[in-house]
Amino acid sequence: MAEAMASGRKGLKTMAYVYQADVWCDDCGRAIIDDLTAQEKAPEDPEDESSFDSDEFPKYYGAEDDEADGPQNCADGKCAGKYGTFLRNALTGEGYAYLKNMLDNHGETLPEYAQEWADYYRFTYVSADDVANDPDESCEPGWYSDEMTTN
Ligand SMILES: [Zn+2]
Repeated sequence: MAEAMASGRKGLKTMAYVYQADVWCDDCGRAIIDDLTAQEKAPEDPEDESSFDSDEFPKYYGAEDDEADGPQNCADGKCAGKYGTFLRNALTGEGYAYLKNMLDNHGETLPEYAQEWADYYRFTYVSADDVANDPDESCEPGWYSDEMTTN
């Protein structure tokens, strides 16, 4: 049964779940599902997501199709080692501004999880030297992404 379900999920999209107002990676989401199922707390028909609430049982969440106002990592907080697995969600314009602010607060050297965000959303660091050496460069030193919208 579990195998049939797994093989039904195709493509390279990041699988995720939403449960109790948090987002979870595929592995952690499935672990929660297994736990709840073992405790007989699963809904009658887990395939019918309209029949239950995500507070009670994890629902599938297409992180890449759903823009969020910030990068999302699994609520587990340690499934990727020192932090939760990055869910590679899409960002709103506000999300890019929020992330830029976070990266700028770190400066040029980012912690591992923030570097993963910077890479995924294609942020590069413009240093004070870059700004000084390029007369056309009118921006402040900091992190910038080509994906950022101007508004
Ligand atoms: Zn996880």
